[in-house]
Amino acid sequence: MALIHRKNTRPLKVGNVMVGGKDEVVIQSMTTTKTHDVDATVKEIERLEEAGCQIVRVACPDERAANAIPEIKKRINIPLVVDIHFNYKLALKAIEGGADKIRINPGNIGKRDKVEAVVNAAKDKGIPIRIGVNAGSLERHILEKYGYPTADGMVESALHHIKILEDLDFHDIVVSLKASDVKLAIEAYEKAAEVIPYPLHLGITESGTLFAGSIKSAAGMGAILSKGIGSTMRISLSADPVEEVKVAKELLKTFGLASNAATLISCPTCGRIEIDLIKIANEVEEYISTIKAPIKVAVLGCAVNGPGEAREADIGIAGARGEGLLFRHGEIIRKVPEDTMVEELKVEVDKIAEEYIQK
Ligand code: SF4
Repeated sequence: MALIHRKNTRPLKVGNVMVGGKDEVVIQSMTTTKTHDVDATVKEIERLEEAGCQIVRVACPDERAANAIPEIKKRINIPLVVDIHFNYKLALKAIEGGADKIRINPGNIGKRDKVEAVVNAAKDKGIPIRIGVNAGSLERHILEKYGYPTADGMVESALHHIKILEDLDFHDIVVSLKASDVKLAIEAYEKAAEVIPYPLHLGITESGTLFAGSIKSAAGMGAILSKGIGSTMRISLSADPVEEVKVAKELLKTFGLASNAATLISCPTCGRIEIDLIKIANEVEEYISTIKAPIKVAVLGCAVNGPGEAREADIGIAGARGEGLLFRHGEIIRKVPEDTMVEELKVEVDKIAEEYIQK
């Protein structure tokens, strides 16, 4: 069943990437390098782009980082978001330096003239601002009102920052409501989707290491995505950020929300297995990770139920004694020797991906 995704969000552009107003969730990640180290940062961004990251965010904690923005911008292909806390001068410098979006909470900038300066600069350059509400750092007046971080408090915080921007006639807004408590994050995003017309950026913050954090993020963001909520997302992991992109892609594929990634279908294996399936599945998964077409590739341990069960696969291979059966949409097209079957499958995958891209 196709997911009904929330399209009625105000669309905006981050560089050349459209966010909101459509049936797609854009994958983001954040660099782990020191932003002022331009070479290292650019290198990491290139790895992220290669993995499928569509928008990248860098931290801007100081002047050195802000000064690096023009050079980073010059050397990368995907839109750049600059993350600033409080300091309006850094925000102005980042905007001047070519940021495609900034993440700053207007309520934390300070006096009105400083807020206006940042908003006017963003307006002049036509770039959006993301308001990032975090359950761990809600404003004192909200904490006093609710006693502790609640979904209502998080939405109220978001609305407080939104109003500051709207009062300055600024509407290119993205909002995130991150929490490390999964249930709290789900509730906050659900409530926000009812009252906020702007695109929502999804995240479960401080979710943990690669294994635990992926599961926690998938549980939380899966629940939110299943309600049709979310225009962009970042999986936050204590790991190489490339892993964040891989997990995000996998999650979006589950909901049919990734238009640029291939999916692997592999059997759970059982006593009927005829080939070294786990090794082959991992090799094929690695191979298709850079394919930019929504094709489905199956790898099955035997031919008993395999091709029929994986009927929705565009192409697949099922193990048979000493050989493999190559099948397409459930129909066997030819037999291939075991020692070359993975290579033959890769050739077929490339052909099908090319057909999709040409369409
Ligand atoms: Fe077992 Fe074959 Fe099914 Fe794999 S495809 S689980 S090996 S019956």
